[in-house]
Amino acid sequence: MPSPIAHVGLAFFARPFLARHPAAHALSRPRRWAFYALISFALIAPDLDFALAFIFTHPLHDHGTYMHSLFAAILFAPLFAFIAYPLLQRSIPRLTLALVGFAAYSSHLLLDLFTPGRGIMLAWPVTTERFASPVPLFFGAHHSQLWAFHLHLITLLTELIFVALVGLTAHYLSPRPHQPPKQRPTSQRNSEFPSLPSTRNQKPKTRNP
Ligand SMILES: [Zn+2]
Repeated sequence: MPSPIAHVGLAFFARPFLARHPAAHALSRPRRWAFYALISFALIAPDLDFALAFIFTHPLHDHGTYMHSLFAAILFAPLFAFIAYPLLQRSIPRLTLALVGFAAYSSHLLLDLFTPGRGIMLAWPVTTERFASPVPLFFGAHHSQLWAFHLHLITLLTELIFVALVGLTAHYLSPRPHQPPKQRPTSQRNSEFPSLPSTRNQKPKTRNP
């Protein structure tokens, strides 16, 4: 699994999401930051099973089990919408927020799939088989080798690069504030067409009888 850095880095996409909903433009700064915090929680929520693994000894409560399934993502989605809807002052529909919650939770599963390790029970409760991509994209966190600083350094550097790329993409996706086109001086506009006579401020010619 990647470290929380890579997971939470995807919260950069929350900014262009809010920017593309005109009804959410009037939200106060604390509400926006509370929404970013909620998104960040959704991005790391599957790893709460670390706590369950400490409490329960049954293998089903181990890390990477049912909390890392698409079924859990489906259950999480309405819960996310239930909290986010009043937080955003009903400016974004519940269904949209539920889809955001599902996408945030599922993105965690996707990143874990592409990280070396034991895999995750993506299809629980249909099967308890653990899935993992044969082609890893992340180096992964090495919690069991706490003092292997060189491994942690590789994890940190690769994930910071990933977060930087996410941040750049989110910045690119953010709509630009509308700016009216600059009006150039009349003299400059006419200088581009020197052969055309300027008609502005010209008095209409009067015919002599
Ligand atoms: Zn995980």
